[in-house]
Amino acid sequence: MKQDLTITNYEVINDTLLVAFSEKDDVMIELKKLRMNCPCASCQGETDALGNIYRGPQPKYTDKSFELNGIQPVGYYGLRPFWKDNHNTGIYTATLLKQLSN
Ligand SMILES: [Zn+2]
Repeated sequence: MKQDLTITNYEVINDTLLVAFSEKDDVMIELKKLRMNCPCASCQGETDALGNIYRGPQPKYTDKSFELNGIQPVGYYGLRPFWKDNHNTGIYTATLLKQLSN
């Protein structure tokens, strides 16, 4: 997959994630919004070859679901947050992060 956008820096300040992109564009995303849009299969459902979406049980959120233990960079184009409720399977691409900031 083609990824033009790369992440050059990121920082968490209080309940907000700040991300800087290669094209000198910074965005801010609330952690709550970030978590609610987790792109992993168990949060978003899995799509089969026919395009049917299978969703797991609705995610159950607690206060800890919206707090971070840390963030791991994935290459130059993605971030993997480690949430305090032990959820860490979502990898947010630069493109997704940009969409979430709108
Ligand atoms: Zn998830």
